[in-house]
This record gives sequence, C-alpha cells and structure tokens, in this order.
Amino acid sequence: MADTKYIFVTGGVISSLGKGIISASLGKLLQARGYKVTIQKFDPYINIDPGTLNPYEHGECYVTVDGHEADLDLGHYERFLNIPTTRANNITTGRIYKSVIEKERRGDYLGKTVQVVPHITDEIKRNIKLLGSKYKFDFVITEIGGTVGDIESLPFIESVRQLRWELGKNCLCVHLTYVPYIAAAKELKTKPTQHSVKQLQELGIQPDILVLRTEHELNSNILRKVALFCNVAEDSVVQSMDVPTIYEVPLVLQRQKMDETVLRKVGLEVGETPALRPWKEFLNKKYTATESVKIGLVGKYVELPDAYKSINESLLQAATYNHRKLDLQFIHSEKLTKENAEEILGPLDGILIAPGFGQRGIEGKFVALKYAREHDIPTLGICLGMQCMVIEYARDVLKLKEANSTEMDPTTPYKVIDIMEEQKNITNMGGSMRLGAYDCLLKKGSKAHNAYNADLVQERHRHRFEFNNEFKDRFEAAGMMCTGENPDTSLVEVVEVSSLKWYVGVQFHPEYNSTVVNPNPLFLSFVKAAIENKK
Ligand code: GLN
Repeated sequence: MADTKYIFVTGGVISSLGKGIISASLGKLLQARGYKVTIQKFDPYINIDPGTLNPYEHGECYVTVDGHEADLDLGHYERFLNIPTTRANNITTGRIYKSVIEKERRGDYLGKTVQVVPHITDEIKRNIKLLGSKYKFDFVITEIGGTVGDIESLPFIESVRQLRWELGKNCLCVHLTYVPYIAAAKELKTKPTQHSVKQLQELGIQPDILVLRTEHELNSNILRKVALFCNVAEDSVVQSMDVPTIYEVPLVLQRQKMDETVLRKVGLEVGETPALRPWKEFLNKKYTATESVKIGLVGKYVELPDAYKSINESLLQAATYNHRKLDLQFIHSEKLTKENAEEILGPLDGILIAPGFGQRGIEGKFVALKYAREHDIPTLGICLGMQCMVIEYARDVLKLKEANSTEMDPTTPYKVIDIMEEQKNITNMGGSMRLGAYDCLLKKGSKAHNAYNADLVQERHRHRFEFNNEFKDRFEAAGMMCTGENPDTSLVEVVEVSSLKWYVGVQFHPEYNSTVVNPNPLFLSFVKAAIENKK
C-alpha cells in the first residue's frame, strides 16, 4: 500500500468513554484484513510521561519493551493487536514542549518568536507522522487524550485540523460521544452528542464517523437523527453499547461494518470480512466456562482497579485459556492482618502479590505471604511482590528478623533487597529506573522454566531495587531458589520455593506481555496451579 492512512480518535461529552478500546478494536479489525496497523496516544498533560504519576491519578503505568513509562491505553493496544508499542506510541504535551524548548535553546528557530501555532503544532504533527513514515504502517490510529473543549487539548485538535488539509483522503476523524438515558423520562438523549460535535466543528474539524457510547440499544431513528444534526452519513454513525467484556467490542464494530466504512472513506478496497477466528475462540471459551477460579490480588491501590489493569487482564486471559471464569478478589493490603487472614485468604485458590512502591501496605503483603506459604496456596509475587516474598522468607525462615529492603529501611542490618549499583547516584525520579525488556535465563526443572518451556525469556521491568546476591546461598540452603537471572548482570529475576505447589516471585512484570491471542505463560501456569489447588 502506498500512503499511510491516519485515523484520529477524539472524545466528547465526558471522559472515560473508552476511546482506547474503540481505537484498539478498530485497529484489530483493520489488522485482521491484513493491514499493518499501529496505535498511538497523545496525552495533553504536562508530565513528560506518566512514570511519576501516582496510580490514583491515572491508573496503571504501562511499560513498553524499549523502557518507556506509558499510558495504560498502550496496554489495550498491545493486548488487542498483539504487537509491541514503543516510546514513539505515547506523546505528552510535556514531551512536545521539552523538544520545542530544546530546539529554541539550540537556536534552531533562527531568531523567530516561538509560538503555539506553528511551532508547537508543527512538533505535534511531526510526532503524529513519525511512526507512519519510519515503519511504513498502512494505518496509524492516533487517540487524542482528554475531551474536546479542554483547554489543554486545543493544540492537538488544531494539529489534527491542519493535518486533515495536508493529508486529504489519507486522513479520517472518528469522534466518540455518549448518549445518556434519562430513566425518569425513559428517554435517550442525543443533545450532548450534538453539542460535542458542534464544539469540534467550531475548532474546524468535521468528524467522518461517530461512535455513540450507550447503555441502552439505540434505534435507527436516533441514529438517523444524529447523522442529520451532525453532518455525518447514516452508515457512519456506529453505536457501542455496554457489553460483558471489552474483547467483544471489535465484534460490535464489525457487525456495524465500521471497518468497511473506514476503508471506503480512505479509498481502499473493502474485500472479504475477516473471520477473526482466534479472537472468537477466546470469547467462546470465556462465555462457555462454567466453573470459576478465585484469585486474590493483594495490593494497596485496590479501590482503583485501573491501577492493576494489565494484571487484571492477564489473569482474565489466563483463566479463560484454562476454561475458567475469573473470580478476582481485590484485597486491600492495609486491611489484611494476622487476625483476619484466615477469613479473607482461606477461600482463595491462588494469591497474587502486587507491585508497588514504598512502605504503605507492606505489612499486609507479609501476612498474605506467610499464610500462602504455610497453607501452600499457589502464589505469584510481581516486582515489589517478589521482593516481599524474599523479605518475608528471610524474616520467618532464615530468622533474620530485621531483614528488609533498603527502600523501606535504609539502615537494616540485612539488606536482602538493595538498591541497584547504577541507581545509587540518580536523583531524578522520571524515567530513571531499570525499565523495559531484559533477558532472563531460567533454570531447567524450575516452575518458571516449566511455565515458559524456554531457557531464555524477555520480560519488562520497572524497579530500582533488586535481590541482594550476597544472600543467595543462604536463601537457597533454606529452600528459596533463585531460578531466573539476567545473563549479563547476574541480577536475580525469579525466586521460588520448590517444595511448595507453586510459589514464584518475579522481579519483572509479566503482565505487560500478555495478549488475547498470546497469553503470558507464567500467568497460565499460575492460574493452572490455582485450579489444581482447588481440586
Ligand atoms: N519499589 C520496588 C523497586 O523500586 C518495586 C517496584 C515495582 O513493584 N514496580 O524496586
């Protein structure tokens, strides 16, 4: 295919309508037709990346293979498209301004006054087109964060307006809105959609396709009315009603031929409708599962499930491929005590100890780990969860009562988890951890090796602290084995207690690498062990 086609996805009326899922679903449909597709997110906030953001602000921080701390929507893109994203797939206002200011300091603007238009918008446009020109994608879908009308998203919307002119037929705008249902009047209301489209038109953009989010089915009269008032063709108004799983959304859009409409509008041949076979098989497994597997996720951000988005999705995928429904219990680590452990943890088939930072909630993680070990419940510790496994084992089995991570207690006499050498002199918080994919060599016969069925795997990281190799012999003599390590640095990546059914801690984040058609082997193995434990 000659030219890259650019699809922009904007949102109106309210936030949290699921632009990421719509972008990913459309991407999936185009990819299934044989096109090379990527999706990128432009976030209008000023942070350079979400790495320094508290999960309460923006949910999970996702990590790309090349070590970029990214918006959680990139997780959806990867789970749907089954291809990795990189730092080029997530740009913020902060990064745009940083780049423009650096150019200004270098003198690149030759004495000109540097302004939002054209300098900021030019930089946005350059970044929008980067992936298309570099990797020759057929389609680049760009999701613009926020809601149309926000002050901070204006330069992005203006850039889209300019690009429509420059790209002509190779450009398409999809606008996502919301149609609320007023229960008292028993009526669906299209006015917010009309207003939102008007706002977009005032900014110079006429959307080509509208996607209406709704909790109730919209009849053809409503769709026709929206088309008429919003200057959009009737076949270009798509509804996206609530469905039991986000993985149903591509099928919802396909039934309304949204991908065909896109292809026609950008002047491409429509061709056969793809069968989406592996995708449908996954959904079929999900819908036909009758028994469930009960997993407890122990963490301190459980009030906000988005904080563990990729873990939730990885568990769901693993449960589905094990033909089980996922019964996921969120357990607040600050509320877990010796006294209530039996009541809360006793009914679980498997326990997952979440990643995290800092002291808060750590004691509850130790309680969960001791209970899991003593009752032989399959357990997966991820990053801080793995570090907690090591500390708890040191305290309870190695009898090093004051063992700790130097993150929690810099003066501990037993630094079983310690700061990495290359991290010691870093004072900047942003983007300064050990980030991205690293090799991990697995020991034959270990639970991890059995799970992956491979000697060498690559998984993504996001941490400053690590297992302290000075203690390795003592741990191994006491039954906690180091079964995965980085071949270049000897950093310990996996620990496990071999005498237990399934008790594995990983320094890396397997949840960033689990997709619908390619679920992560470690999660599959963990959930399988949990199911067997139940029997
Ligand atoms: N706080 C720990 C570290 O920095 C673990 C980080 C995490 O769980 N992502 O090493």
